[in-house]
Amino acid sequence: MQLEFDPGDILDPGAPGALDGRGAPAPPQRLSPSGASTFEQCPRRWRFRYVERLPEPPGVEALVGTFAHRVLELLMQRDPSHRSQAEAKRIARATWPELAGGEDYRDLELSDDEAKAFRWRAWHAIEGLWHLEDPAAVEVEATEEQMSVTLGNVPFRGVVDRLEREDDSLVVSDYKSGRAPTARYAPARLQQVLLYAAAVAEETGEQPVRAQLLYLGQRIVATSVTPDEIGDAIGQLESTWSAIAAACDADEFEARPGPLCGYCAYVEHCPEGQAENLRRAQQRADEDEYLMRLAG
Ligand code: SF4
Repeated sequence: MQLEFDPGDILDPGAPGALDGRGAPAPPQRLSPSGASTFEQCPRRWRFRYVERLPEPPGVEALVGTFAHRVLELLMQRDPSHRSQAEAKRIARATWPELAGGEDYRDLELSDDEAKAFRWRAWHAIEGLWHLEDPAAVEVEATEEQMSVTLGNVPFRGVVDRLEREDDSLVVSDYKSGRAPTARYAPARLQQVLLYAAAVAEETGEQPVRAQLLYLGQRIVATSVTPDEIGDAIGQLESTWSAIAAACDADEFEARPGPLCGYCAYVEHCPEGQAENLRRAQQRADEDEYLMRLAG
């Protein structure tokens, strides 16, 4: 289990976070896929993150993703003939000081061995692209493209990792350094790239034909972009947008305790999350005791 992290997503400047005349949070000016997914997982977590703006240190997993994204972004901006693993290593070496000098990385306080393991993990994520495709064969149209459009009735924002042309058609791609989902969870993960495809169509007038998640070193999770798929993704976005507006209006943000509480940066502020973690710890202890009894 891991929290979904999208390095392309940043908090909307200036919104939400403001309070209206009654002291309730003002709804956001724009909604990103990451903001929508945070609210869908747990509205209370959304409030901690986007209204109270409590710090959420990224952790090793997220920083590995940030670094791999940055290196692959620069690599894919090179001429196709230069998109080799040797070039990726050169870019990684040149880019490393950016990450290593940052507060988020320093806050991890890694030992020498842990820092070495971090760099290996990042490299495995980067070279994982070659397990999925030949980067030299990709016809890149754009990288890290900022989108700011209206989808349905929702002011939407997002950053598309990569837009490419394949057989004269557009394809939207997003790099992922986390674990690839099982078939059951793949449709939910694909919502993000379907929204990007809708945003690209809105901004350029050309509908991408495919949207895909490149799980580095693992596999590609892809879907055709059809009117039905787009309609469903926008419908879900509209419904989340309405729920956020209602929660802000009432200043009521339900806690949804579950497995993610074990990874939530805000658990110390959340009694429901603490109770959930205790319950799960107790459940694990009971199961261990039961297994010991069986074995004995
Ligand atoms: S600890 Fe759990 S219930 Fe509380 S905000 Fe985090 S995810 Fe939500």
